Amino acid sequence: MKNSVIIFSLFILAACGSKKSNSNESIGDVSNEKIQSDSIRFDGFQEGYLEQQRTVYQATETIYTDLIHTKLEVNFDWSKSRMNGIATITAKPHFYPSDSLILDAKGMDILSVQLDGNKLVYSYDSSYLKIKLNKVYTRKDKYTVTIAYVAKPDERTTGGSAAITSDKGLYFINPKGEDKSKMPQIWTQGETEASSVWFPTIDAPNVKTTQEIYITVQDKYTTLSNGKLISSKKNTDGTRTDYWKQELPHAPYLFMMGVGEFKVVKDTYTRPDGTKMDVNYFVEPEYEQYAKAIFGETPNMIAHFSKLLGYEYAWDKYNQIVVRDYVSGAMENTGAVVFGDYVYKTDRELLDGNDQSTIAHELFHHWFGDLVTCESWSNLPLNESFANYSQYLWDEHRFGIDEADYQAEGEADGYYQTGQMQGYHNLIWFDYEDKEQMFDGHSYNKGGRILHMLRNYIGDEAFFAGISNYLNTNKFKPAEFHQLRIAFEEVCGEDLNWFFNQWFQAAGHPVLDVNQRLDEVKKTVTVNVSQKQNLELSPIFKLPLEIAVFDDNGKHIHKVVVDALTNSFVLPYAGTLKCVIFDYQQMLLAKVREEKPTDQYIFQYYNGERYHARKDGLMLGTKNKEQKGQQLILDALNDKFWNIRLLAIEKASKLTLENRTKGLALVKDLASNDPNSAVRAAALNYLANNLPATEVEPIYVDRIEKDQSYSVISAALKNLGKANPDKAMEKAKKLESEKSSKMLAGVGQLYGSYGKKENYAFFETALKGKYLQGFDQLSMMNSLTYYISRQDFELVSQSYELYEYLNKEGGYYTQMFMPQNVEYVNTVLDAQMEEAKEELAAHEKNNDALYADQARKKMKSITDLKVKFNALTVEEGEK
Ligand SMILES: [Zn+2]
Repeated sequence: MKNSVIIFSLFILAACGSKKSNSNESIGDVSNEKIQSDSIRFDGFQEGYLEQQRTVYQATETIYTDLIHTKLEVNFDWSKSRMNGIATITAKPHFYPSDSLILDAKGMDILSVQLDGNKLVYSYDSSYLKIKLNKVYTRKDKYTVTIAYVAKPDERTTGGSAAITSDKGLYFINPKGEDKSKMPQIWTQGETEASSVWFPTIDAPNVKTTQEIYITVQDKYTTLSNGKLISSKKNTDGTRTDYWKQELPHAPYLFMMGVGEFKVVKDTYTRPDGTKMDVNYFVEPEYEQYAKAIFGETPNMIAHFSKLLGYEYAWDKYNQIVVRDYVSGAMENTGAVVFGDYVYKTDRELLDGNDQSTIAHELFHHWFGDLVTCESWSNLPLNESFANYSQYLWDEHRFGIDEADYQAEGEADGYYQTGQMQGYHNLIWFDYEDKEQMFDGHSYNKGGRILHMLRNYIGDEAFFAGISNYLNTNKFKPAEFHQLRIAFEEVCGEDLNWFFNQWFQAAGHPVLDVNQRLDEVKKTVTVNVSQKQNLELSPIFKLPLEIAVFDDNGKHIHKVVVDALTNSFVLPYAGTLKCVIFDYQQMLLAKVREEKPTDQYIFQYYNGERYHARKDGLMLGTKNKEQKGQQLILDALNDKFWNIRLLAIEKASKLTLENRTKGLALVKDLASNDPNSAVRAAALNYLANNLPATEVEPIYVDRIEKDQSYSVISAALKNLGKANPDKAMEKAKKLESEKSSKMLAGVGQLYGSYGKKENYAFFETALKGKYLQGFDQLSMMNSLTYYISRQDFELVSQSYELYEYLNKEGGYYTQMFMPQNVEYVNTVLDAQMEEAKEELAAHEKNNDALYADQARKKMKSITDLKVKFNALTVEEGEK
């Protein structure tokens, strides 16, 4: 699973997942209740000891029954958002003999339960289906039960989390086709435990079953599920039944089903033995022509990861589908991966950023998650840390090490931010309150960085051999983190408990103070390192790392181990000490506060190998206005890596008068010619503040007319607005019909500042259309709010209908920020009320009864409108 934006989880209210019931009701011998250990108390065993309380321990689900095979036959009632299903489940007792089968089945109508054509006794409480079998079975006996049921996802109360905003399991999107902007569709989302909304199963990650599914739909629909499409049969009533089968076992949360008028764009992966495998992309007709631009790297990724992991991609096929109103970023359902509609991008939009990281993330889960599955949600990092780290591996392979390091810096920041907001906990977290909490900056971001440190420590060859060992040992089974450690230990021969203890079973990260002391007589530099993290939360870390010393003879790498509260490393140098780079590979997940002379930072920019060292060189070597630092800024404007050039543009404001002309010439060139659109856009923004309007205007017009990147055009438009609003408005008019979310948001921003009454239609079309996505829709609503703050009451009143629409149909972030927008509209209305009051007073003073009456009417209208707006912020349940 890939959360779309992990740092935004801080805006998301804690969601309450539905807890499993602890009902004591039982039938026959059904006594193997699933009980969540809520509170285990350890009383003091000796007088005077404080009573200790262990609040929660999230144990791995006890296995009473092994699922073997799940066969589903389903059809849909679109008008009621219900699914009719028959589940035929083959199972056996796991170890102890049993005459019962307990299944998770959420909010269903159970119509019948049979075994060999005979009805079985069962009880059902909307959460668990408890079935009394016809006899006691041993672990050597298989049995098959058939359950007829109706799934009613819209008739349950639901929970959710930051990563997965709902746990409805089965989603009917625009099922009656009332919203013309949204293709009617059905899709599922199983993780964490929502598959049991659409079929009865044992809904836990340590369960695996093979699967087949018969999906009957109207012939116009395309279907998708896990495994291979075995047959597609037309029925006499105009429907069609597609039969999908997956012969390899996987966990119930990975079951997937999708239905809609999707187009299938075919692609292929060729295995090393020459056999071909389907890699198809399921998209809406409008995006058929862009599907390969969006997903086309997938076959290369499968090849790259298969080779790197020493484990060929295990599954039958790899299909990807894009759905509307998705509740997460993307989901790794085995061979049938779901993405939210933010990945819909035209080839021009792809110039401003692609979704290859997410594509890689979901694909990597097919080894970590789908092949070897975390045995409990506490062990979720076994899925998500690897998926997160795949993004690094793909960037490194496809875009180079600088891009990988740059993205990794963002991942580390994501961990620090969520840690600060939500607190730090062990990576393998046994005392979470709700399983959805596991989908946070620890399991993903921190876990990915930890794997990178392990790779750095044991070396590439041992790292990937260890992974291959882990996959081969645990394939098609659940695993816990000890199994990962053991797999690496077997390969490299070293006890790795120290590494796993501090990173997997402890909280926080190192905070290091690093300084250096020079002894010019002995020709040594002493590097002092102190660990400053809170030791009540975190351990004293053992950190093997490299320190690079640069002197007259060049570079010397020293491998050291930081392992105490304070360590001092005495390192020799020859001639003049040029620079010391701590953690030369820049791989530590640590907050490092370093004291170092400016000259060393300047040297570091030119001689540091890794992105982060060069970035620090630029940021910290240019603090004063000495010519060396000034030259560094000018040189960094031509750096080989785009983000350093972008940072250099920001630093260019520090250029002194004598360097500014050179800098301006370089930035001007970047504005038009840099291959990276973010750099071009940043250059345009810089020019706005550093060149007279008459000089920049033609540059902006040139970019608006010639640039292919929407983000560059948006930046040009925004800056042209500041220089020449009329011309910008004229240019914006021509961009109103672009089918790009970013471009529309850019036009919206301009209209937010300069729009006139006639521009309202644009907001209406854009906000009700289908092109605005996620944050861009939110940005457009914010622009609308600024826009109406400069319009008359009539238009504010007219706009209510748009806010009402967004409150109902708007995206996740739009709805989240609705209250702030309503508050702003309130201040606008309050100001208009003050004006109306003044008018009234003036008319009353003049005894102008007719106008006074009009003013009173207006005041009433304003009050009424405020009431309507404020009602938009009231929660559904409070109404
Ligand atoms: Zn994931």
